[in-house]
Amino acid sequence: MIEGSCLCGAVRFSAKAMSGIVECHCAMCRKAAGGHAGFFFVSFRRDVTWQGAEHLTQYESSPDLVRRFCARCGTAMTGANLKVPDATIILAANALDGEVPARVVAQEYCASKASWAERHDGAPSCEAGWENLWP
Ligand SMILES: [Zn+2]
Ligand SMILES: [Zn+2]
Repeated sequence: MIEGSCLCGAVRFSAKAMSGIVECHCAMCRKAAGGHAGFFFVSFRRDVTWQGAEHLTQYESSPDLVRRFCARCGTAMTGANLKVPDATIILAANALDGEVPARVVAQEYCASKASWAERHDGAPSCEAGWENLWP
């Protein structure tokens, strides 16, 4: 089972199956995700169960598209889904917990990439906090 939760633990989802993860560089996803990109996957709505869904709130980021997030802690829990739901749901990979049976398979809206995050794969990596990089 694929499990996800928000930072405060009020909202959880589980899904029976997931698509590969897509990294979206569009400006809306960056702001909504709080990072250099948004990371999303798709599941069938019938395969997804929610706990604490009453803590979800939503923002209509484009006409007829809503993003859902935890009203308590702000964690993005979905991508931009149709206001009138279809059979699928775009879920936020940032919320995933534990072992995840998928990896990033594609990047989209690369023309909107954050300039500050360009080629950051070469930045020094720390096992824990970045404080270790300072003298
Ligand atoms: Zn929360
Ligand atoms: Zn996007």
